[in-house]
Amino acid sequence: MDYEEMLKKGREEIPEDVFSGERFEIPEAETQKDGNKTVIRNFRTLADTFNREEKHLSKFLLKEMGTAGHIEDGELVLNGTFRRGSINRKLTQYAETFVLCTECNRPDTEIVKEKGVELLKCEACGARSPIED
Ligand SMILES: [Zn+2]
Repeated sequence: MDYEEMLKKGREEIPEDVFSGERFEIPEAETQKDGNKTVIRNFRTLADTFNREEKHLSKFLLKEMGTAGHIEDGELVLNGTFRRGSINRKLTQYAETFVLCTECNRPDTEIVKEKGVELLKCEACGARSPIED
């Protein structure tokens, strides 16, 4: 059985309605080593997929990776070499903290500020939850 078949079989065993909603796939980074730097090639696409400002995402990643870097033509250049796996883990963490609704798990959210507290406001179910990072 090849992977496609396995996937198909797996889906058949899961109730239909799991797939009827939009399921959000956390995107993965496409990285490239450039000397002693690491370039996230699809950075702009990642920010677009999360529906967040590039600067917001880059600030988080740089802080989490403990390095400096800059955005250049839609790519994020990190000082230092990093494994794609560890960058992807940070992207998952970002999605869970700043994008996915804690109630319904959808990505249709925006960050709002109320009385100095950042909240994640969900367009889909109306939930608001404080952002804890
Ligand atoms: Zn929600």
